Amino acid sequence: MIDLHTHSRASDGTLSPAELVSLAAGRGVTLLSLTDHDCLDGVAEAAAACASAGIRFLPGVEISTSLDKKTLHIVGLGVDPENAALKAGLARLQAVRDERAQEIGRRLEAKGIAGAHAGALMLAGDARLTRTHFARFLHRAGHVKDERQAYKKWLGRGKPGHVSAEWASLEETLNWIHAAGGRAVLAHPLRYGFTRTWLVKILTAFKQAGGDAMEVISGRSNPDEIAVSAHLAGRFEFMGSVGSDFHAPSAWLQPGVDIPLPSGIKAIWESPSA
Ligand code: AMP
Ligand code: MN
Ligand code: MN
Ligand code: MN
Repeated sequence: MIDLHTHSRASDGTLSPAELVSLAAGRGVTLLSLTDHDCLDGVAEAAAACASAGIRFLPGVEISTSLDKKTLHIVGLGVDPENAALKAGLARLQAVRDERAQEIGRRLEAKGIAGAHAGALMLAGDARLTRTHFARFLHRAGHVKDERQAYKKWLGRGKPGHVSAEWASLEETLNWIHAAGGRAVLAHPLRYGFTRTWLVKILTAFKQAGGDAMEVISGRSNPDEIAVSAHLAGRFEFMGSVGSDFHAPSAWLQPGVDIPLPSGIKAIWESPSA
């Protein structure tokens, strides 16, 4: 089993990097990447845990990227976590995150929800602030019946607490990943809710900018989604990646993907560095 897209408590996952590795190892994962949002803080701990568990590890990061006012997630795999260009880029995105979080707090406050920014910060602890922390706050404070509702009612596109952010440009993201010796992978291509026309535009832009791969199997992809993704990977000559996008243990999503890449797609892990 392989998993090249996972989150830990360094961003919006619920497990520490070592707990994540131990869960993955127990499920038979033999190649793992930790890909927290705009941050590499968990990578050293995950690398050490993988070394003692005898698992191959690729340092990773999921970079928030803006293209045509849309947000894309680009996973960098096999990056050098000490690379200065990458570290400086991520530091800038964390500043954008902090500002956006304050604005989300102000907008929610204006709609009668008090203390959201402070509450999200408290839930995040040492982690980098994400909308997931706001969703957890809204749920725990009783404003919504579950976290999904938090996006539907407050945090999702077009909702009162939605604040669009200027993330990295596609060129910046790819430069940082490649400067750090990694491969750039378009994450969960079918999860953005784009029309097929937009998806093709985005894949075209990603290819032209030097993108290396796309996730062909993501989370709970169904066979139709895998077929569509494999077709697109073939058409654009992208390598294929697989990842659970694991955030928290649950009945329906655990680390590790046991579905093989469709034949004809080159696996990113067979040439993980540029
Ligand atoms: P951010 O990068 O701070 O905007 O947060 C994005 C994260 O919020 C994603 O990586 C997901 O973990 C989570 N998220 C966004 N939309 C939803 C949703 N509709 N349901 C559940 N989680 C979501
Ligand atoms: Mn997330
Ligand atoms: Mn994502
Ligand atoms: Mn993710």
